[in-house]
Amino acid sequence: MRTLRDLFRRLPPDGQLLHALRNFNLAPFRSGKAVSVKHLAEQLGLDVHQVDLPRGMAGRLVSDPFSDSGYAVEINRSHDVRSRRFTLLHEIGHFLLHIDRSDPLADPMLLSRSDEEFYFDQIKEREANDFADVLLFGDGALSAAFSLFARDVEKTANYFGVTDRMIEIALSKFKVR
Ligand SMILES: [Zn+2]
Repeated sequence: MRTLRDLFRRLPPDGQLLHALRNFNLAPFRSGKAVSVKHLAEQLGLDVHQVDLPRGMAGRLVSDPFSDSGYAVEINRSHDVRSRRFTLLHEIGHFLLHIDRSDPLADPMLLSRSDEEFYFDQIKEREANDFADVLLFGDGALSAAFSLFARDVEKTANYFGVTDRMIEIALSKFKVR
């Protein structure tokens, strides 16, 4: 999964959903800051809670009968804001790709992002990361921003609201340099 098109092939043909995702990819920075990933989550019916989680756990998708979709994301509030943004995108990836959203009362499924993910499904973990990367950086978004900022990693990271390290990884993943 390297492009929005690859991603959209995996999703239901829901115009509103695809529109929200495409808009996020097209305009990651608005009104002087990186756009709100929480707003994106809420557009998809996901509530977001910033909570205390075990130190190595970044976030998780939990069932939540009170949210529009039946799911919510819990984010480790002790992590820095740029990591929390990426974690939320990762969990949105699980929500869109890995659960049966037609049955909100199905058994709760906990999909977490943590340092100790070896016991989780590695394919699903990679897909959730790919989702976040494609949404942020795909379809030329990373290469355009990177040249706009004269190949300055820090400024590019600031633009996308992620860490420098995430930009470094994405630059090689998307073969921008
Ligand atoms: Zn995960």
